[in-house]
Amino acid sequence: VKPSKESIDLQRKSLPIYQMRQDLVTQIRDNQFIVIVGETGSGKTTQIVQYIYEEKLHVFNGCEKIIGCTQPRRVAATSVAGRVADEVGCVVGDEVGYNVRFDDNTSYKTKIKYLTDGMLEREALSDPELSNYAVIMLDEAHERTIATDVLFALLKKAALKNPNLKVIVTSATLDAEKFSTYFNNCPIMRIPGRTFPVEVLYTKEPEMDYLAAALNSVMQIHLSEPVGGDILVFLTGQEEIDTSCEVLADRMQTLGDAASELIILPVYASLPPEQQTMIFEPAPPGARKVILATNIAETSITIDGIYFVVDPGYVKINAFDPRAGMDSLRVCPISQAQANQRSGRAGRTGPGKCYRLYTENSYAQMLPNAIPEIQRQNLSHTTLMLKAMGINDLVNFEFMDPPSSHTLFASLEDLYMLDALDDEGNLTKLGREMADYPMEPALAKVLIKSMEFGCTEEILSIVAMLSVQTIFYRPHKRRALADQRKARFHSTQGDHLTLLNVYQRFMLNHGSQTWCQDNFIQHRSMKKAVDVRKQLRLILQKYGYKDFRSSGDPSVILKTLCCGYFKNTAERSSDAGYMILANRESVFLHPSSSMWGKSPEFVLYHTVLSTTKQYIHCVSVIQPQWLVELSPKFFKKGDPSTSQRSEKIVPLFANQR
Ligand code: ADP
Ligand code: MG
Repeated sequence: VKPSKESIDLQRKSLPIYQMRQDLVTQIRDNQFIVIVGETGSGKTTQIVQYIYEEKLHVFNGCEKIIGCTQPRRVAATSVAGRVADEVGCVVGDEVGYNVRFDDNTSYKTKIKYLTDGMLEREALSDPELSNYAVIMLDEAHERTIATDVLFALLKKAALKNPNLKVIVTSATLDAEKFSTYFNNCPIMRIPGRTFPVEVLYTKEPEMDYLAAALNSVMQIHLSEPVGGDILVFLTGQEEIDTSCEVLADRMQTLGDAASELIILPVYASLPPEQQTMIFEPAPPGARKVILATNIAETSITIDGIYFVVDPGYVKINAFDPRAGMDSLRVCPISQAQANQRSGRAGRTGPGKCYRLYTENSYAQMLPNAIPEIQRQNLSHTTLMLKAMGINDLVNFEFMDPPSSHTLFASLEDLYMLDALDDEGNLTKLGREMADYPMEPALAKVLIKSMEFGCTEEILSIVAMLSVQTIFYRPHKRRALADQRKARFHSTQGDHLTLLNVYQRFMLNHGSQTWCQDNFIQHRSMKKAVDVRKQLRLILQKYGYKDFRSSGDPSVILKTLCCGYFKNTAERSSDAGYMILANRESVFLHPSSSMWGKSPEFVLYHTVLSTTKQYIHCVSVIQPQWLVELSPKFFKKGDPSTSQRSEKIVPLFANQR
């Protein structure tokens, strides 16, 4: 049921930001840059763009330009676009639209456009002055994603050339001065907050198992606190959240009528739109909602009615070690700023409580603020984009917080090894092409190389499957059966070909939902993969490739993957233990791999996940001689297990200064 126009107007006028509407409009009209700070839920994301639209600040000589608003997360972009379309009174894709990777829902009519920061960075590649835009709002700037940081610098440059372009930076936390200083000491507007006190409770002893502790807390709150206040729990990822939802549902079932109803809702980046709307609906009388979310619920999306927050104190991040040249996903303690954002979620509707599942002393030891991504992640993709924009002097590029020279060096080296840069550090033709593919350089290279190897049909499927989140699911109570079903797809060559098998059988079964259910496969992920594959095909066609072939030979397919992922290779050192060829780090085969128990001597892997150990995920069999053949810059002849750093790298880097 869509809310009525009257109720929408009433709700809009009741937001804290509405008090400042006139002020904001005047300041935006009079300044090229402006920083706006306000509590989560004050109305920044949904209202500011509408004020601009209503006041026609986006119209020049009768010509309407676009009002863009970036979001670090795709789910925030899509859900907010839905809400704002309702408020404006249109369908998504008309006046209000969104554009996230592999999902463009805009048209020639679109004037208010929500997009991920990564997509805007991509638009800057073909139009550095962003000439279609009147205003760009860099929302959630406190998140400091790499793409937002790069956009800071790009927009500062674009605004110099295009005096009609306005830049608004919004943040939920108090980094305002830093942003203002960066944008030529621009004005800062503060939206008065409307928050209630939150009582913060710590554990006396550190928790050994934060997940169990979190679920116990939820049950305790639900059984002891009066119905009406909803609960928000911060977890680290989709799998953890899905499992927890099942465990809670089981516990509620055991209690039967002894407890009031608990509505259990997951929230994470890849949540389908049907489920997105459910999180915003109030619980029916007599029932309570519990929302299990990733850190997306810290500031990106606002859910009303939360009185209780359960915060285990962890977040999953992508970390890069420039010395080892290695990326991994790891679960890390949050910062104090994040802890405070999380507890703040309990005080939006009334006085609340936050259960921190760590000690007060642990809190004191947390970093005050999270480290910006640009200082802790692999920059190969960013470096390639900047080079493709003609920005060669990366050392003097105006980053707000520059990355370390180690990280920059590592990214240049990566690109050189991938043949995206030549000996002088200039972009090659291949490198320029790779920059146009919305994915990691290694993956882009694999796609392009597949044409030469004659296995594009298979590689397209594998790349599409790798780009969607979870394919298989393992319901808590039916794990054994789920694993059995999954094993039927296992290839003796490893997980990449297993993914290919799943894709091919899904297509043979005409995308059947029942087939997916029978095989414990996420139908939604599969549909996504089919869609991604189509789009990847279009990109290749755009480059004039046609006559896509299938090879049918597993070795050819795996060899093609090595063209991009030669660095993600390891040699067996014990049963499930491996040593990464490039840096001699030890890693372990993850038990979910089809290679578990088989332990081939040389493997290629897609990701490293650090938990108690460093696990390699998505693992396949390779031949060591392929590595010498495909990347002589990286591997020595005769002994593929020793990698070499090319001597050419040093002058390459010197060239950047
Ligand atoms: P901010 O960006 O300052 O955090 P928003 O503009 O996102 O604030 O949210 C303003 C209000 O709009 C909040 O009270 C929120 O609950 C409501 N809102 C936002 N998105 C939705 C949605 N998809 N459905 C219903 N209400 C929403
Ligand atoms: Mg917001």
